[in-house]
Amino acid sequence: MRAAIIGGSLGGLTAALLLRDLGIQVDVYERSPAELVQRGAGIGFLPDAARYLVQRAGLVVCGAAQPFLQVIYDVEVPQMAFDRVCLIGDAAFVVRPHAAAGTAKAAADAWALAGALKRHGDVVAALADWEPRQLALGQQLLERTRRIGRRSQVDGNWVAGDPELIFGLHGPGA
Ligand SMILES: Cc1cc2nc3c(=O)[nH]c(=O)nc-3n(C[C@H](O)[C@H](O)[C@H](O)COP(=O)(O)OP(=O)(O)OC[C@H]3O[C@@H](n4cnc5c(N)ncnc54)[C@H](O)[C@@H]3O)c2cc1C
Repeated sequence: MRAAIIGGSLGGLTAALLLRDLGIQVDVYERSPAELVQRGAGIGFLPDAARYLVQRAGLVVCGAAQPFLQVIYDVEVPQMAFDRVCLIGDAAFVVRPHAAAGTAKAAADAWALAGALKRHGDVVAALADWEPRQLALGQQLLERTRRIGRRSQVDGNWVAGDPELIFGLHGPGA
């Protein structure tokens, strides 16, 4: 089996490493001519994720040389699987930053994809199995960030210790 991955950042690299571990021949197509430095200036990793990407892919995460402004839009798709092609990470859902979970979701999409490909020999069957949970994950995360944003910037009713405010994903598929 061969896989082509468009984009060699968090989601793409994680998927590439996991699919290669399954014995799949993987080609990664990244449009940026620069090395993987300064990619995602605002990305925060937990130590395990950073160690994994640094050891396996040589990813170096540096601070941006200069401050920058970035407009942030919510992006959501109704479909992530298209025959033998799928969208993962920010290509499917871009969520506002309040949950700091975009990297975890990109990795979760990739981990689930590798798991589905391992369970099903057939790519179309694997993607049909994979898609509903990842769509639900993206929709839930987007809803959570919208609620957090509304509460922090409109309602002003954040309460210290509220579990909804904990960064990242709150468990597998959540
Ligand atoms: C300012 C900011 C702060 C953030 N802070 C956090 C945080 O603290 N914690 C967190 O978890 N998440 C954070 N995020 C979100 C996180 O960066 C993304 O969710 C994550 O990078 C998604 O990974 P990805 O691989 O799906 O997409 P990306 O990281 O966007 O990677 C996409 C890759 O595809 C490449 N590409 C695009 N088009 C093509 C093409 N046509 N051909 C080839 N290559 C292509 C791009 O060059 C890029 O390398 C932040 C985002 C921003 C913008």
